[in-house]
Amino acid sequence: MFETALAEPLASILNTSIDAVFVTTRDGTIVWVNGAAENMFGWSGAEMRGRNIALLMPPPVKNQHDSFLAAFRPGRGVTHVLGIDRSLDAVRRDGTLIPVEIGISTFELNGDRYFAGFVRDISERRAAGERLRFLATHDQITGLPNGMLFVEELKAELARRTAPAVIVITPVGFWRVAERHGRSSAEHMIRMIAKRLRDAAGPGAFVGRIHGESFAVMTLGDPMGLAKKLCDAVSLPIAWGSVHLHLGAAAGIATSRRTDSAPDPLLQDAHSAASYAASRSPWGGISLFTEDLGRRIAREALMEERLREAISQQTLTLALQPKVRARDGSLSGAEALARWHDDVLGEVPPSEFVPLAERTGLIGDLGRVMLRLALMQLADWQRRSLPLTMAINISAVDLRQPDLALRLADAIRETGCDPVGIVIELTESALIDDPEQATERLHAIKALGVSLSLDDFGTGYSSLSYLRHFPIDSLKIDRSFVIDTPDIATAAAVAHTVVALAKSLGMKTIAEGVETEAQASFLRDIGVDVFQGFLFGRPLTVAQFADFALSHPAS
Ligand code: C2E
Ligand code: MG
Ligand code: MG
Repeated sequence: MFETALAEPLASILNTSIDAVFVTTRDGTIVWVNGAAENMFGWSGAEMRGRNIALLMPPPVKNQHDSFLAAFRPGRGVTHVLGIDRSLDAVRRDGTLIPVEIGISTFELNGDRYFAGFVRDISERRAAGERLRFLATHDQITGLPNGMLFVEELKAELARRTAPAVIVITPVGFWRVAERHGRSSAEHMIRMIAKRLRDAAGPGAFVGRIHGESFAVMTLGDPMGLAKKLCDAVSLPIAWGSVHLHLGAAAGIATSRRTDSAPDPLLQDAHSAASYAASRSPWGGISLFTEDLGRRIAREALMEERLREAISQQTLTLALQPKVRARDGSLSGAEALARWHDDVLGEVPPSEFVPLAERTGLIGDLGRVMLRLALMQLADWQRRSLPLTMAINISAVDLRQPDLALRLADAIRETGCDPVGIVIELTESALIDDPEQATERLHAIKALGVSLSLDDFGTGYSSLSYLRHFPIDSLKIDRSFVIDTPDIATAAAVAHTVVALAKSLGMKTIAEGVETEAQASFLRDIGVDVFQGFLFGRPLTVAQFADFALSHPAS
């Protein structure tokens, strides 16, 4: 009867609509549907007519429907649209859900009130929206959740008060390997690491790529055990063409036991702990964030800031420690040692600030400053015809820079010194990383006319077979062996061996850290050429050294 009441032309217009159209009575009984409604829901018009519109609603919506209808009072001609800002599903005859948007209005006909509903299938729009959301919350290379989604999940987990732990894991040596093997190797490594982390973390943990080469894992289980597993997974060799790429792994753990834990600080703490672990060893390790570690990291950050300032303000000073000839005690030269007095931190020893400078990339500038100071001093001696050598420490990090020889050449030219008086001190660790490249760089440095000395000899893992390929002029026997001579047989044997080795390779030997007459006389007897140590002179200021030089002529 509603059919007849609905004017024929209007019915045929509604039948051409792509949207499904329903007309119901005020209690929801379906009285008219169009063809699109039959197609969309899989019921025929006859089957739908007479039944309640709730037929097309999934259970949770069904419950709300009655109260919705009771409250629904749009004015004449006003359409209320549902499903635009939150998802709304309808249910088909076969039980499958279909995302919809519904426009509803109400009208009166022959004294009765009806509802008209226009139902639009928005599956495609929703799929596109979901795709967009996926893209915005996932990393494109690995498909893993990105930092934003990770923080969101962490927030949700914290709200459940389940005390999750966060592990940040960073491959160590990543950029060095990527530089050597090209950009595409970087992407390959990231993909492999992501896959391995996902496998190692298992279904119970949430893994994300938070930025760059850093990943984060959220777990409710034992974070230390999991961190170990993750590090092992990252440090397995990665096949790349015909070679294997080797990475270290650093992990930082932060637990949410602290009452004020919020997602960002938690992730930040884990990140700080991971950076800390990465900075302590060339292969990484695992650090648990604690209050104490937090304080240490803060002190280091302060120290970094102050050191940066000291370098740019050129407030680092030069200390000179005398080197004397073993045979007659005459002055042969000095080692240039950096000294840093900071107004806030006080006197900071080089054993603390040099490694810090190496970790933070400040070493290049620090080296430049110290090199200038030392070469200016050397040029001064040379102008006054003092035949002294100046030994300058070059960090392993500096030797990895391709422009070291150029920098040295510039400094020599600018200070006007004769390179014959320059001794460059390197540690073994600078050479073992990539011996072939090191050999090349050492030759470039030697070509400037300077001498090379191997510092702290015996403490590194020097490969004797390589030693003869390096253009080294002298070996410095490390203080740790000197300290135990002559009383401890093994130390004496090491000293002996180093001297013999140096002689056979045509190199000179220097003993560092000589503190007693007994050490000096033993070392002199076995043929050490030069002594450096508190017995002869501590590191001195430039003025003190000038006095020292007056009382110890350079023979
Ligand atoms: P190094 O090159 O092995 O320098 C020798 C260190 O041993 C110096 O410590 C020196 O003061 C100390 N020493 C010398 N004789 C004795 C002794 O008889 N007894 C004892 N107990 N110690 C002695 P310092 O000045 O603290 O320097 C430590 C390290 O810091 C240096 O070891 C060097 O590796 C690094 N360093 C210092 N200045 C610079 C610099 O300008 N650039 C770079 N790259 N490294 C530097
Ligand atoms: Mg040295
Ligand atoms: Mg040394």
